[in-house]
Amino acid sequence: METIRCLIIGSGPAGYTAGIYAGRAGLKPVIIEGLQPGGQLTTTTEVENFPGYPDGVDANDMMDDLRRQAERFGAEIRSEIVVKADLSKAPYVLTLDGGKELACHTLIIATGASAKYLGLADEEKYRGQGVSACATCDGFFYRKKTVAVVGGGDTACEEASYLAGLAQKVYLIVRKPFLRASKAMQDRVLQNEKIEVLFETNTEGLYGNNGVEGAHVVYRRGESDERRYDLPIDGFFLAIGHKPNSDLFAQWLKTDEHGYIVTEGQTPQTGIPGVYAAGDVADPLYRQAITAAASGCKAAIEANRFLQENGL
Ligand code: NDP
Repeated sequence: METIRCLIIGSGPAGYTAGIYAGRAGLKPVIIEGLQPGGQLTTTTEVENFPGYPDGVDANDMMDDLRRQAERFGAEIRSEIVVKADLSKAPYVLTLDGGKELACHTLIIATGASAKYLGLADEEKYRGQGVSACATCDGFFYRKKTVAVVGGGDTACEEASYLAGLAQKVYLIVRKPFLRASKAMQDRVLQNEKIEVLFETNTEGLYGNNGVEGAHVVYRRGESDERRYDLPIDGFFLAIGHKPNSDLFAQWLKTDEHGYIVTEGQTPQTGIPGVYAAGDVADPLYRQAITAAASGCKAAIEANRFLQENGL
Protein backbone atom coordinates (compact mmCIF):
# COMPACT_ATOMS: atom_id res chain seq x y z
CA MET A 1 0.00 0.00 0.00
CA GLU A 2 1.22 3.49 -0.83
CA THR A 3 2.24 5.39 2.33
CA ILE A 4 2.12 9.18 2.22
CA ARG A 5 3.85 11.44 4.73
CA CYS A 6 1.21 14.14 4.68
CA LEU A 7 -2.25 13.45 3.29
CA ILE A 8 -4.69 16.32 2.99
CA ILE A 9 -8.39 15.70 2.40
CA GLY A 10 -10.22 18.63 0.86
CA SER A 11 -9.43 21.35 -1.65
CA GLY A 12 -10.85 24.54 -0.19
CA PRO A 13 -8.75 27.37 1.27
CA ALA A 14 -7.75 25.14 4.23
CA GLY A 15 -6.68 22.17 2.11
CA TYR A 16 -4.74 24.19 -0.46
CA THR A 17 -3.04 26.33 2.17
CA ALA A 18 -2.03 23.19 4.05
CA GLY A 19 -0.69 21.96 0.68
CA ILE A 20 1.36 25.13 0.16
CA TYR A 21 2.94 24.93 3.61
CA ALA A 22 3.46 21.17 3.59
CA GLY A 23 4.89 21.42 0.07
CA ARG A 24 7.33 24.15 1.05
CA ALA A 25 8.39 22.05 4.04
CA GLY A 26 9.32 19.28 1.60
CA LEU A 27 6.61 16.86 2.74
CA LYS A 28 5.39 16.09 -0.80
CA PRO A 29 1.78 16.30 0.34
CA VAL A 30 -1.04 14.59 -1.49
CA ILE A 31 -4.35 16.44 -1.64
CA ILE A 32 -7.48 14.38 -2.21
CA GLU A 33 -9.72 16.89 -3.91
CA GLY A 34 -13.10 15.46 -2.96
CA LEU A 35 -16.53 16.02 -4.42
CA GLN A 36 -16.24 19.77 -4.86
CA PRO A 37 -12.82 20.76 -6.19
CA GLY A 38 -11.98 24.20 -4.87
CA GLY A 39 -14.46 23.78 -2.04
CA GLN A 40 -17.47 25.80 -1.09
CA LEU A 41 -16.04 29.10 -2.29
CA THR A 42 -16.48 27.93 -5.87
CA THR A 43 -20.23 28.19 -5.30
CA THR A 44 -19.95 31.90 -4.65
CA THR A 45 -19.20 34.77 -7.02
CA GLU A 46 -16.84 37.41 -5.88
CA VAL A 47 -14.70 37.38 -2.77
CA GLU A 48 -14.27 40.89 -1.41
CA ASN A 49 -12.84 40.21 2.01
CA PHE A 50 -9.76 38.08 1.37
CA PRO A 51 -6.73 40.24 2.19
CA GLY A 52 -4.56 41.08 -0.77
CA TYR A 53 -7.34 41.65 -3.30
CA PRO A 54 -8.27 45.32 -2.94
CA ASP A 55 -10.67 45.12 -5.88
CA GLY A 56 -12.15 41.74 -4.96
CA VAL A 57 -11.48 38.51 -6.81
CA ASP A 58 -13.58 35.93 -8.63
CA ALA A 59 -13.88 32.99 -6.21
CA ASN A 60 -12.99 30.39 -8.85
CA ASP A 61 -9.94 32.39 -9.92
CA MET A 62 -8.80 32.62 -6.32
CA MET A 63 -9.14 28.87 -5.82
CA ASP A 64 -7.26 28.23 -9.09
CA ASP A 65 -4.47 30.47 -7.80
CA LEU A 66 -4.33 28.61 -4.49
CA ARG A 67 -4.27 25.30 -6.31
CA ARG A 68 -1.43 26.37 -8.59
CA GLN A 69 0.48 27.74 -5.63
CA ALA A 70 0.17 24.39 -3.82
CA GLU A 71 1.24 22.52 -6.96
CA ARG A 72 4.21 24.83 -7.43
CA PHE A 73 5.62 23.56 -4.14
CA GLY A 74 5.10 19.92 -4.97
CA ALA A 75 1.61 19.16 -3.70
CA GLU A 76 0.06 16.40 -5.74
CA ILE A 77 -3.65 16.87 -6.26
CA ARG A 78 -5.76 13.80 -6.93
CA SER A 79 -9.39 13.85 -8.10
CA GLU A 80 -10.66 11.22 -5.74
CA ILE A 81 -13.07 10.88 -2.86
CA VAL A 82 -12.35 9.33 0.52
CA VAL A 83 -15.14 6.95 1.56
CA LYS A 84 -13.70 5.38 4.69
CA ALA A 85 -11.12 6.21 7.33
CA ASP A 86 -9.39 3.90 9.77
CA LEU A 87 -7.65 5.98 12.41
CA SER A 88 -7.33 3.12 14.90
CA LYS A 89 -3.55 3.04 14.57
CA ALA A 90 -0.74 4.75 12.67
CA PRO A 91 -0.15 4.80 9.80
CA TYR A 92 -3.77 5.74 9.20
CA VAL A 93 -5.61 4.11 6.32
CA LEU A 94 -8.06 5.85 3.99
CA THR A 95 -10.20 4.05 1.44
CA LEU A 96 -10.97 5.85 -1.83
CA ASP A 97 -14.18 5.56 -3.84
CA GLY A 98 -12.59 3.15 -6.29
CA GLY A 99 -11.70 0.81 -3.41
CA LYS A 100 -8.00 1.71 -3.35
CA GLU A 101 -6.40 2.23 0.06
CA LEU A 102 -3.81 4.81 1.05
CA ALA A 103 -1.79 4.94 4.25
CA CYS A 104 -0.49 8.15 5.80
CA HIS A 105 1.70 9.25 8.70
CA THR A 106 -0.08 12.58 9.08
CA LEU A 107 -3.59 13.46 8.02
CA ILE A 108 -5.07 16.92 7.57
CA ILE A 109 -8.86 16.82 7.42
CA ALA A 110 -10.07 19.87 5.51
CA THR A 111 -13.36 18.49 4.24
CA GLY A 112 -15.34 21.68 4.84
CA ALA A 113 -19.08 21.86 5.25
CA SER A 114 -22.12 21.30 3.02
CA ALA A 115 -25.33 23.22 2.56
CA LYS A 116 -28.27 22.29 4.78
CA TYR A 117 -31.78 21.60 3.54
CA LEU A 118 -35.06 22.12 5.40
CA GLY A 119 -35.80 18.40 5.35
CA LEU A 120 -38.98 18.60 3.27
CA ALA A 121 -39.79 15.61 1.09
CA ASP A 122 -40.47 18.07 -1.74
CA GLU A 123 -36.85 19.26 -1.66
CA GLU A 124 -35.80 15.78 -2.72
CA LYS A 125 -38.62 15.49 -5.21
CA TYR A 126 -37.68 18.71 -7.01
CA ARG A 127 -33.92 18.63 -6.54
CA GLY A 128 -32.41 19.78 -9.82
CA GLN A 129 -35.90 20.73 -10.96
CA GLY A 130 -36.18 24.02 -9.20
CA VAL A 131 -34.54 23.30 -5.84
CA SER A 132 -30.94 24.38 -5.34
CA ALA A 133 -28.53 25.33 -2.57
CA CYS A 134 -26.26 27.31 -4.85
CA ALA A 135 -27.43 30.50 -6.51
CA THR A 136 -24.16 30.98 -8.35
CA CYS A 137 -24.33 27.51 -9.83
CA ASP A 138 -27.98 27.56 -10.85
CA GLY A 139 -29.07 31.20 -10.91
CA PHE A 140 -28.51 31.41 -14.65
CA PHE A 141 -31.53 29.17 -15.24
CA TYR A 142 -33.84 31.68 -13.58
CA ARG A 143 -33.22 34.73 -15.72
CA LYS A 144 -36.32 36.93 -15.71
CA LYS A 145 -38.13 34.40 -13.50
CA THR A 146 -39.35 34.48 -9.90
CA VAL A 147 -37.38 32.74 -7.18
CA ALA A 148 -37.33 32.39 -3.41
CA VAL A 149 -34.31 32.19 -1.13
CA VAL A 150 -34.71 30.71 2.35
CA GLY A 151 -32.62 32.08 5.23
CA GLY A 152 -31.77 35.31 6.99
CA GLY A 153 -27.98 35.14 7.31
CA ASP A 154 -25.17 36.53 5.17
CA THR A 155 -25.37 33.66 2.73
CA ALA A 156 -29.09 34.14 2.13
CA CYS A 157 -28.66 37.88 1.60
CA GLU A 158 -25.74 37.33 -0.73
CA GLU A 159 -27.65 34.73 -2.74
CA ALA A 160 -30.75 36.93 -2.90
CA SER A 161 -28.69 39.88 -4.14
CA TYR A 162 -26.97 37.72 -6.72
CA LEU A 163 -30.27 36.28 -7.96
CA ALA A 164 -31.82 39.76 -8.11
CA GLY A 165 -29.27 40.51 -10.82
CA LEU A 166 -30.77 37.76 -12.95
CA ALA A 167 -34.35 37.09 -11.89
CA GLN A 168 -37.34 39.35 -12.23
CA LYS A 169 -38.35 38.96 -8.59
CA VAL A 170 -36.77 37.43 -5.48
CA TYR A 171 -38.57 36.56 -2.26
CA LEU A 172 -36.39 36.15 0.80
CA ILE A 173 -38.18 33.79 3.20
CA VAL A 174 -37.05 34.49 6.76
CA ARG A 175 -38.43 32.59 9.73
CA LYS A 176 -37.70 35.30 12.30
CA PRO A 177 -38.97 38.91 12.33
CA PHE A 178 -35.42 40.10 11.56
CA LEU A 179 -32.37 39.28 9.45
CA ARG A 180 -29.31 37.82 11.10
CA ALA A 181 -26.96 39.01 8.35
CA SER A 182 -24.39 41.77 8.80
CA LYS A 183 -25.66 45.34 8.50
CA ALA A 184 -24.03 45.86 5.09
CA MET A 185 -25.68 42.72 3.70
CA GLN A 186 -29.05 43.63 5.17
CA ASP A 187 -28.89 47.08 3.58
CA ARG A 188 -28.04 45.56 0.23
CA VAL A 189 -31.12 43.36 0.38
CA LEU A 190 -33.53 45.88 1.86
CA GLN A 191 -32.57 48.52 -0.70
CA ASN A 192 -32.98 46.22 -3.67
CA GLU A 193 -36.41 46.78 -5.13
CA LYS A 194 -36.45 43.36 -6.79
CA ILE A 195 -36.16 41.64 -3.39
CA GLU A 196 -39.17 41.26 -1.11
CA VAL A 197 -38.44 39.97 2.38
CA LEU A 198 -41.14 37.74 3.86
CA PHE A 199 -40.46 37.84 7.59
CA GLU A 200 -41.87 35.27 10.02
CA THR A 201 -42.53 32.90 7.17
CA ASN A 202 -41.83 29.18 6.86
CA THR A 203 -42.04 26.84 3.91
CA GLU A 204 -44.13 23.70 4.33
CA GLY A 205 -43.92 22.24 0.84
CA LEU A 206 -43.44 22.84 -2.86
CA TYR A 207 -45.76 22.20 -5.75
CA GLY A 208 -45.62 21.99 -9.53
CA ASN A 209 -46.29 19.52 -12.31
CA ASN A 210 -43.25 20.45 -14.31
CA GLY A 211 -40.60 21.31 -11.74
CA VAL A 212 -41.22 23.85 -9.01
CA GLU A 213 -44.14 26.15 -9.69
CA GLY A 214 -44.64 27.43 -6.17
CA ALA A 215 -44.18 27.02 -2.43
CA HIS A 216 -46.72 26.40 0.29
CA VAL A 217 -45.78 28.92 2.96
CA VAL A 218 -47.13 29.91 6.34
CA TYR A 219 -46.94 33.31 7.97
CA ARG A 220 -46.65 33.42 11.80
CA ARG A 221 -47.14 29.70 12.28
CA GLY A 222 -48.87 28.84 15.55
CA GLU A 223 -49.97 32.45 16.20
CA SER A 224 -53.55 33.72 16.23
CA ASP A 225 -53.01 35.53 12.92
CA GLU A 226 -51.36 32.50 11.25
CA ARG A 227 -51.94 32.52 7.50
CA ARG A 228 -51.16 29.84 4.91
CA TYR A 229 -50.84 30.71 1.24
CA ASP A 230 -49.20 29.62 -1.98
CA LEU A 231 -46.29 31.62 -3.35
CA PRO A 232 -45.81 31.16 -7.09
CA ILE A 233 -42.08 30.74 -7.82
CA ASP A 234 -39.91 29.01 -10.42
CA GLY A 235 -36.91 28.34 -8.22
CA PHE A 236 -36.36 27.59 -4.52
CA PHE A 237 -32.90 28.29 -3.09
CA LEU A 238 -31.75 27.12 0.32
CA ALA A 239 -29.30 29.31 2.26
CA ILE A 240 -29.85 28.19 5.85
CA GLY A 241 -26.35 27.29 6.86
CA HIS A 242 -24.05 24.34 6.58
CA LYS A 243 -23.26 20.98 8.09
CA PRO A 244 -19.61 20.04 8.67
CA ASN A 245 -18.41 17.11 6.57
CA SER A 246 -17.12 15.08 9.48
CA ASP A 247 -19.22 11.90 9.27
CA LEU A 248 -16.29 9.78 8.06
CA PHE A 249 -14.29 10.67 11.14
CA ALA A 250 -17.00 10.88 13.81
CA GLN A 251 -16.18 7.36 14.98
CA TRP A 252 -12.59 8.34 15.72
CA LEU A 253 -12.58 12.01 16.62
CA LYS A 254 -14.40 14.14 19.11
CA THR A 255 -17.12 16.26 17.50
CA ASP A 256 -19.46 18.84 19.03
CA GLU A 257 -23.25 18.61 19.00
CA HIS A 258 -23.39 19.99 15.43
CA GLY A 259 -20.71 17.64 14.13
CA TYR A 260 -17.77 20.08 14.06
CA ILE A 261 -14.48 18.32 14.83
CA VAL A 262 -13.17 19.52 18.18
CA THR A 263 -9.53 20.61 18.11
CA GLU A 264 -7.19 21.32 20.98
CA GLY A 265 -6.94 24.92 22.11
CA GLN A 266 -5.55 27.20 19.45
CA THR A 267 -4.13 24.31 17.45
CA PRO A 268 -5.72 22.17 14.73
CA GLN A 269 -4.73 19.03 16.66
CA THR A 270 -7.37 16.39 17.16
CA GLY A 271 -7.15 13.79 19.91
CA ILE A 272 -5.17 11.47 17.59
CA PRO A 273 -1.43 12.12 17.12
CA GLY A 274 -0.64 13.33 13.60
CA VAL A 275 -4.29 13.92 12.71
CA TYR A 276 -5.39 17.54 12.27
CA ALA A 277 -8.64 19.24 11.34
CA ALA A 278 -8.59 22.56 9.49
CA GLY A 279 -11.14 24.92 7.99
CA ASP A 280 -14.92 24.80 8.23
CA VAL A 281 -15.08 21.14 9.33
CA ALA A 282 -13.65 22.30 12.65
CA ASP A 283 -14.88 25.88 12.80
CA PRO A 284 -18.40 26.59 14.06
CA LEU A 285 -17.53 30.22 14.74
CA TYR A 286 -15.82 32.08 11.92
CA ARG A 287 -16.21 30.00 8.75
CA GLN A 288 -14.30 32.43 6.56
CA ALA A 289 -11.90 31.65 3.73
CA ILE A 290 -9.14 33.50 5.53
CA THR A 291 -9.64 31.68 8.83
CA ALA A 292 -9.81 28.37 6.98
CA ALA A 293 -6.55 29.19 5.19
CA ALA A 294 -4.92 30.11 8.50
CA SER A 295 -5.89 26.83 10.11
CA GLY A 296 -4.64 24.91 7.07
CA CYS A 297 -1.30 26.65 7.57
CA LYS A 298 -1.24 25.70 11.26
CA ALA A 299 -2.10 22.09 10.47
CA ALA A 300 0.77 21.79 7.98
CA ILE A 301 3.23 23.30 10.45
CA GLU A 302 2.07 20.83 13.10
CA ALA A 303 2.27 17.91 10.66
CA ASN A 304 5.84 18.85 9.74
CA ARG A 305 6.79 19.11 13.41
CA PHE A 306 5.20 15.73 14.15
CA LEU A 307 7.00 14.01 11.28
CA GLN A 308 10.34 15.47 12.36
CA GLU A 309 9.87 14.59 16.01
CA ASN A 310 8.95 11.02 15.13
CA GLY A 311 11.66 10.55 12.52
CA LEU A 312 9.12 9.98 9.76
P1 NDP B 1 -26.09 31.43 9.35
O1 NDP B 1 -26.05 30.31 10.31
O2 NDP B 1 -25.46 32.73 9.71
O3 NDP B 1 -27.61 31.78 9.00
C1 NDP B 1 -28.52 30.78 8.70
C2 NDP B 1 -29.87 31.42 8.44
O4 NDP B 1 -30.77 30.38 8.06
C3 NDP B 1 -30.46 32.10 9.67
O5 NDP B 1 -31.18 33.23 9.28
C4 NDP B 1 -31.39 31.02 10.21
O6 NDP B 1 -32.49 31.52 10.89
C5 NDP B 1 -31.87 30.37 8.93
N1 NDP B 1 -32.32 29.01 9.15
C6 NDP B 1 -31.64 27.97 9.69
N2 NDP B 1 -32.38 26.86 9.71
C7 NDP B 1 -33.57 27.20 9.18
C8 NDP B 1 -34.75 26.49 8.95
N3 NDP B 1 -34.87 25.20 9.24
N4 NDP B 1 -35.79 27.16 8.39
C9 NDP B 1 -35.69 28.46 8.07
N5 NDP B 1 -34.59 29.19 8.27
C10 NDP B 1 -33.53 28.56 8.82
O7 NDP B 1 -25.51 30.83 8.01
P2 NDP B 1 -24.87 31.55 6.74
O8 NDP B 1 -24.62 30.45 5.80
O9 NDP B 1 -25.69 32.67 6.29
O10 NDP B 1 -23.50 32.13 7.26
C11 NDP B 1 -22.52 31.29 7.87
C12 NDP B 1 -21.31 32.12 8.28
O11 NDP B 1 -20.61 32.57 7.12
C13 NDP B 1 -21.69 33.36 9.06
O12 NDP B 1 -20.72 33.57 10.04
C14 NDP B 1 -21.66 34.44 8.02
O13 NDP B 1 -21.43 35.72 8.58
C15 NDP B 1 -20.52 33.98 7.12
N6 NDP B 1 -20.68 34.49 5.75
C16 NDP B 1 -20.00 35.62 5.41
C17 NDP B 1 -20.11 36.13 4.15
C18 NDP B 1 -19.33 37.36 3.82
O14 NDP B 1 -18.69 37.89 4.70
N7 NDP B 1 -19.33 37.82 2.59
C19 NDP B 1 -20.97 35.52 3.12
C20 NDP B 1 -21.67 34.35 3.58
C21 NDP B 1 -21.52 33.87 4.86
P3 NDP B 1 -32.39 32.07 12.39
O15 NDP B 1 -31.77 33.42 12.31
O16 NDP B 1 -33.81 32.09 12.79
O17 NDP B 1 -31.58 31.08 13.16
